[in-house]
Amino acid sequence: MGNENSSTIYSEIRKLKEEKNAVILSHYYMPPELQLLEKDGGVADFIGDSLGLSIEATRVNAANIIFCGVRFMAETAKILNREKQVFIPDMEAGCSLASSITAADVLELRRQHPGVPVVAYVNTYAETKAEVDICCTSRNAMSIAKSFDSEELIFVPDVYMGQNLSKKIEAETGKHLILWHGKCEVHEQFTGSAMKMMRLMNPDAEVLVHWEVPAEGVDASFDQNTGVLGSTNDILKYVGESKSQKFIMASECDLGATLKGMYPDREFITPCFKCPYMKKITLTNTLQVLEAIGTGNVPPYEIILPEEVMTRAYPPIKRMLDFV
Ligand code: SF4
Repeated sequence: MGNENSSTIYSEIRKLKEEKNAVILSHYYMPPELQLLEKDGGVADFIGDSLGLSIEATRVNAANIIFCGVRFMAETAKILNREKQVFIPDMEAGCSLASSITAADVLELRRQHPGVPVVAYVNTYAETKAEVDICCTSRNAMSIAKSFDSEELIFVPDVYMGQNLSKKIEAETGKHLILWHGKCEVHEQFTGSAMKMMRLMNPDAEVLVHWEVPAEGVDASFDQNTGVLGSTNDILKYVGESKSQKFIMASECDLGATLKGMYPDREFITPCFKCPYMKKITLTNTLQVLEAIGTGNVPPYEIILPEEVMTRAYPPIKRMLDFV
């Protein structure tokens, strides 16, 4: 899309947001043109990771929320804002982690491990959240896992994040995590050999590694270089506090664009693995949602969930927000 087209679509989106009483919440993995805040000439009202956007969703005054992220995030925003209409520009914006587990799978895990609490990463659909004890994000998973008295916990659905958490939790508390087999198809590409290669080529770089990267990728990242293993927010915070000029980044490619925008003088090296689900959201389909609001043609975009599912999924999400 040329600059002229982009600026026309930007002004159209800004105009319709005002007319239709709507806000845009945009995730850090969105294409750069959707990460630009309205105050900086773009269209987003808030940019954040999933926990940050969940919190913003509880503070929104507008009647309509347009969620530029993936569907499980928009569902969470809806469950926290039942009186509002929540829209996603493409219903096909899924997630390999969220689709790896169903509510029936959680019930079966409970049957196999009676009495063991279930912690679900927020990357799950509403029906799955309705069956768990508490949700977590990569930002508060450690403190939530530590808060349970039980010696065992079921952690779903991300096996890699679960393995990374297990190491820390078992070392610090002796707790054992029972894991599911879900994988983020983006972060699983940061294998041990990929990380080793980037590190060997950039021995002076610090390493920024997301919790969803496989354990062998994490081990290969930190055997010599310093850096951080954590959430998107931990990565942003670490770079802000570091004196380094060069970083290897093991997370979704467009987080690199966010970092470069924040720190233009620093270098961020990444193989640029993009999430195909996040990239379904564009300026064009964001404009289409706004055009549809109020016309009676919103069903392709509106998040509609059964009342009973929302009622049961709310407490695990609310408990998660208490750990901010
Ligand atoms: S980056 Fe991974 S966890 Fe995030 S939405 Fe895409 S597939 Fe899901």
